[in-house]
Amino acid sequence: MSQDWDAGRLDSDLDGVGFDTLAVRAGQHRTPEGEHGEAMFLTSSYVFRTAADAAARFAGEVPGNVYSRYTNPTVRAFEERIAALEGAEQAVATASGMSAILAIVMSQCSAGDHVLVSRSVFGSTISLFEKYLKRFGIEVDYPPLADLAGWEAAFKPTTKLLFVESPSNPLAELVDIRALAEIAHARDALLVVDNCFCTPALQQPLKLGADIVMHSATKYIDGQGRALGGVVVGRKAQMEGVVGFLRTAGPTLSPFNAWLFLKGLETLRVRMQAHCASAQQLAEWLEQQPGIERVYYSGLASHPQHELAKRQQSGFGAVVSFEVAGGKEAAWRFIDATRVISITTNLGDTKSTIAHPATTSHGRLSPQERANAGIRDNLIRVAVGLEDVADLKADLARGLAAL
Ligand SMILES: *Cc1c(COP(=O)(O)O)cnc(C)c1O
Repeated sequence: MSQDWDAGRLDSDLDGVGFDTLAVRAGQHRTPEGEHGEAMFLTSSYVFRTAADAAARFAGEVPGNVYSRYTNPTVRAFEERIAALEGAEQAVATASGMSAILAIVMSQCSAGDHVLVSRSVFGSTISLFEKYLKRFGIEVDYPPLADLAGWEAAFKPTTKLLFVESPSNPLAELVDIRALAEIAHARDALLVVDNCFCTPALQQPLKLGADIVMHSATKYIDGQGRALGGVVVGRKAQMEGVVGFLRTAGPTLSPFNAWLFLKGLETLRVRMQAHCASAQQLAEWLEQQPGIERVYYSGLASHPQHELAKRQQSGFGAVVSFEVAGGKEAAWRFIDATRVISITTNLGDTKSTIAHPATTSHGRLSPQERANAGIRDNLIRVAVGLEDVADLKADLARGLAAL
């Protein structure tokens, strides 16, 4: 036996291997140069041997690259790797998490269709539906994430798609994905899960019955704050439409970013484990501190959905939110007293971040909408990075001292 990589590695060589092996190896097809790492194909177009070859490739009669808005070998390697990690038939990479959501709706819905979106999703997701998709005749309602009866009650005969983020940001609420998938399928609707906060290292929604999963790869998949990107994964039947929309409209992933994400995936599980371990320690510690009124973290026994989190996820994630004694001023004093943790709303980075949701990510909501979403003025969100946990604790202690 030899490793005949000149002919490209066969996918069957990875049959039955574990998550970490897929994270490091899946999707790589070596060129005859014999490169050990993944090659980066920075090319917009591809050449043909003959005019007849060009015609056959354009007609789709012969497989092969035509133009990088359609296919690119580095992007394809990333797609194959993330599909393997999510246990999906196919993955399609996009320029950002938002364009992943746009591609899903544009490919699955038409004017007059109804979409149910969980109330607590990412701010730009709500803007995309409210400001743009509604103008093209997509109807949207927002049931509370965890309330299965509320989802059932919100259905209309035209409901095509359910879209959820579980766990939610910043309050770490969950929905029972398996139960919601059953509700969706009983009414011929598809369930889409934004798996950004867990990544496939902690949760694989397709295995729980979801139809489509999307990510902002900008967050933990890159994990190092370097690049924007997104990905949609699911069955070939649904991905065909997503591919068609992306090829035509153009928000495809750049090969450079795809290369960064390939390297990000290689360390995904060990990073997620370290993120989760530090988040658990900090959440437990914060819960003991005078001056902290409530901690939101599904790894705590005090979290109302702790049992569901244990069943549905293999880790609790790295976003820890808490309410301090006092109001907005107290929260701001806490944040301003930190010296190590970055004051920013981003997450999924090696660097820990701290933010005041009521005046940043949720600042454009009315006070009533904020109250409905459970975002109080004394709420602080920390996305725990990979620094020494003792240093993060010392930094949060500075915040506590400033209360
Ligand atoms: C950041 C984020 C998005 C949007 O992703 P971009 O890559 O910024 O476009 C979508 N969903 C969640 C949960 C996010 O955190």
